[in-house]
Amino acid sequence: MPLVFVALGANLEQPKQQLDSACQALSALAQPGTLRVSPYYRSAPMGEVEQPDYVNAVASFQTELAPLTLLDELQRIELEQGRQRLVRWGPRTLDLDLLLYGDEIINTPRLTVPHYGMKQRAFVLVPLADLAPDLQLPCQTRLAALITQSMRNELIPL
Ligand code: ATP
Ligand code: MG
Ligand code: MG
Repeated sequence: MPLVFVALGANLEQPKQQLDSACQALSALAQPGTLRVSPYYRSAPMGEVEQPDYVNAVASFQTELAPLTLLDELQRIELEQGRQRLVRWGPRTLDLDLLLYGDEIINTPRLTVPHYGMKQRAFVLVPLADLAPDLQLPCQTRLAALITQSMRNELIPL
């Protein structure tokens, strides 16, 4: 059964609690006993929109769900927690991005895996490495080789 990694982010309506609730919801998608969650970090928002800082984390679990079914479930959880898509990279109660689905490379209109932005984002790479320090991406790149000290300095552990 594939091991999947999901990035969590929130910056509205008690972001830490949004992540706690999301982890509860993710546990229902996971094979029992397989859900792991990284420490939470505070990070500055991406892009030009003025908005609060984010709380970010990464979760991993094994699941029987196929990739697009998993995406449906992640989007359902986002909506249940009040996610609205108003502007790109705008503030949100919850973002759940599928980072990795085992070793699979997926390119469909709705789903790109590995997630297209993950290699550049400190708030993804650092918590991912907390869970899986020896991880190798499907492109054969080692996760540890992507993480710089300046990326670590961007994040405040919560
Ligand atoms: P970014 O993707 O740059 O982090 P975002 O998370 O704010 O931005 P969303 O509005 O959450 O973007 O998602 C936009 C679309 O991205 C979704 O409708 C979904 O179909 C698509 N998508 C493609 N690949 C993925 C993935 N790996 N995980 C989640 N959504 C994805
Ligand atoms: Mg995102
Ligand atoms: Mg998203």
